[in-house]
Amino acid sequence: MPSGRPKKLKSIDSVDKITTPLKQKEIIQSVANALIIQDTPDLDIWSDENRFLPPETSSEHGKWRTSRFPFLRRVMKCLSASSIAREIVFVKGGQLGGTECAINWLLHSTVCEPGPSAYIQKTIDAVKAFVKQKFRPAIRHCSAVAYTLGDKKPTGYSNAILDMGYPGGFISFGPANSSDFLKSKSLLRGVLDEEDQYELSIDNQGSPRLMLKKRMANFPNSKLLRISTPVLKELSTIEPGFHEGSEELYYVPCPNCNPDASDTKFMFAIEHDNIKWSKEINPKTNAPIRVWCECPSCGYEIDESKHKTWMLKKGDWFSTKNYDDPETPLSRYRVGDVEFPSFRLPSFYSPLGFYSWYDAAHDFLEYKRTGDISLLQVYINQCCAETFSLTGSDIDHTGLYMRRESYSGSKNLFDVPNEGLCLTAGVDVQDDRLEVEVVAWGILEESWSIDYKVLPGDTALTGNIYGMLPNGQPTVWRLLHDYLSKRWRHESGVDMPVEVTMIDSGGHRSDEVHQFCRPRENLRIWPIKGQGGWGNGLWRRSTRRHEKYKTIDYRLFVDELKSKLYAFLRIQTPGPGYCHFPKKDVYSEKYFKGLTCERLQTRTVRGQQQLYWDTPPGARNEPLDCRNYAYAAFSAYGIDLFKRASVGLQSIFGSMARVKKIKLRKGSRGL
Ligand SMILES: [Zn+2]
Repeated sequence: MPSGRPKKLKSIDSVDKITTPLKQKEIIQSVANALIIQDTPDLDIWSDENRFLPPETSSEHGKWRTSRFPFLRRVMKCLSASSIAREIVFVKGGQLGGTECAINWLLHSTVCEPGPSAYIQKTIDAVKAFVKQKFRPAIRHCSAVAYTLGDKKPTGYSNAILDMGYPGGFISFGPANSSDFLKSKSLLRGVLDEEDQYELSIDNQGSPRLMLKKRMANFPNSKLLRISTPVLKELSTIEPGFHEGSEELYYVPCPNCNPDASDTKFMFAIEHDNIKWSKEINPKTNAPIRVWCECPSCGYEIDESKHKTWMLKKGDWFSTKNYDDPETPLSRYRVGDVEFPSFRLPSFYSPLGFYSWYDAAHDFLEYKRTGDISLLQVYINQCCAETFSLTGSDIDHTGLYMRRESYSGSKNLFDVPNEGLCLTAGVDVQDDRLEVEVVAWGILEESWSIDYKVLPGDTALTGNIYGMLPNGQPTVWRLLHDYLSKRWRHESGVDMPVEVTMIDSGGHRSDEVHQFCRPRENLRIWPIKGQGGWGNGLWRRSTRRHEKYKTIDYRLFVDELKSKLYAFLRIQTPGPGYCHFPKKDVYSEKYFKGLTCERLQTRTVRGQQQLYWDTPPGARNEPLDCRNYAYAAFSAYGIDLFKRASVGLQSIFGSMARVKKIKLRKGSRGL
């Protein structure tokens, strides 16, 4: 197949004379559909001839070689018109050429099998980034698509960023969270990229995958590519998709006991358990001196640089799934051409020069060193290509209580240890009291709880402009004002203010919280409202002021925040993410019970698995809420602590007035 202008589009020239673009399009569509060439080259062959990896997007640019990613050949065969595959599931780790494979397919289709196509990613921003950074450069460097998507495309076809028309078809790019997009035109071909990051149901109309499949029902030869790094076990859709398909793993031979790669029985799939490392650690890189892959048959220590390329080349996809009889013991077999092929490939297969076994061992040991469960999740998801389960792993509150520490010695009394560089506070609002925690933040989110305070008082009473009641007593809001105005002694001798505070406005006292925050906006005392749900990040700042209170408020995605905090609490070694607690009476066992009282659980809602945080009846979770608000405050503040550490606190806080004067607006109800 020569590169450049494809043969079958020649007929299109003859319709150039027809003037109405609509009529032209119709004819081209029918011509293109009728002319789908029987000997269309398969995707792997076409890609080898026509695809070029642009220098701006690939660390290894130049001509695409499927032989560099031998495991992709079968996936690409399934995506070709010659295969009967309808739904292809590819569960993958990082650095395996998965996205390039999808790009190959979309480009190939415009030339070899035109038709309506859609490419989906989680959000519109992710889609735009993909088109700009990956897809457009790929078009520029592929002369074979010059007449369909490139600079020689006939006029009259959409050139919009997210809607590329071409003779006989189009590719629309859209987000998985828009039901409007998912319900529009009929489709011949669809790509669901990073599917495990999608919301499970869009506007209560079902999953993005089911909505897309409805759009593909009109085409008997439609193909759907589902490609994703798996994420959470409880919410994953790609993992069940893998189990519904042919469940294939890539088996490789051992260079020692199977040097001719002749005996497929002794081939094995590389998983975490096969990767071994020496005990000696390189102190500079914190990685082992030597890493190898152990053959499960003969125990041979396989050297990556010597043998990996050969192993990948000689490898093949096998299934251990028994379609016909679930009773018989599983045996490994080649699947052949099926309608629902599914593949799982960890990053241990990443070709030489990309992610190495050494990198994998380093990433795993980094988790072992820190105990940071979020590092383990990244390793399990992105390297092992497996889902990670968050539920069922409780945090031991007694362990947290036992590890409390004295921050200051008997001679030098201070509140904040040297490494704490910024103070934030979180306030939980109840009808009869306010609870507030002050937290110090250090480099890489290491934290020190400084103080926890319960301020009793009816939160419905706001008092006069000074926050005083007619009987001369201060309101609880006045007490909060005084508490937040307090300075905290840093180990260096500097007195530090609380720089950002977030207060919950979601309960009964929304009015009072907004009234308190409005005149204190320049002190960074911000109202927040908690919201459930996954995949939205940690917080979002409102784009316009509150209609009634004229405040800028924040939406906190509390499910994600709680996951983050619990990951921090599981870290056992001081360093990034570790939470320090002081030996103070307020940090009692009751406090730690409250901090750790919630459990991640799953439930089924309208047939969909949902992950949610469960609070046992009677549990007091205020410590958890306060801590989360203080963390969100720090996160939203976005301060560069590396810079602050290099400048020193003295120059920042040393000259600051003890209490900043609060400017009350005219007509404000004050405290
Ligand atoms: Zn062996």
